[in-house]
Amino acid sequence: MTDSANTQGGAGLAVPRRILGFERDAADEWIVHLDCGHRRHVRHRPPLSEYPWLADAAARAARVGASIECGRCGRGELPDGAAAYRTTELFDETNLPAGLRRAHTIRAGAWGRVEVLAGRLRFVMPALAVDRVLTAGEQAIIPPELPHHVEPLGPVRMQVVFLRVPPGDLPHGS
Ligand SMILES: [Zn+2]
Repeated sequence: MTDSANTQGGAGLAVPRRILGFERDAADEWIVHLDCGHRRHVRHRPPLSEYPWLADAAARAARVGASIECGRCGRGELPDGAAAYRTTELFDETNLPAGLRRAHTIRAGAWGRVEVLAGRLRFVMPALAVDRVLTAGEQAIIPPELPHHVEPLGPVRMQVVFLRVPPGDLPHGS
């Protein structure tokens, strides 16, 4: 019954994220680490992809903190290595906090996973064109800093799991 046209990520959307640093892969291509937890290649391949500053160390350093588009966030993909660090209590339609029923966000670097255990829950995240109904056993991924809200459709039982990529292996001097 899932409507794949309406699940996260079909629309080729991207989300601007902040650059934390750079490293080279085994093939000597540049990879940026982003504050969402994703890493992506950047390549200077004009005219499709123009990053003329990549070869210059000072120019790379100047880009730390700047934003770049993250397609994996646009597709609602959890970063590699993301691990759960907290789970809310079980909510139902009577005790679901009002704050979750109106637009709110998860802080930078942290991800959420809405899990429905019973009933039906509407999950809305306009920035990624997501508006879907989750039923028992279904879940939705919430990228950092994207406004979203939920709405019980009758009786429901749900929880939210929070995940993040453990800090650590960003190379120095990148
Ligand atoms: Zn991302």
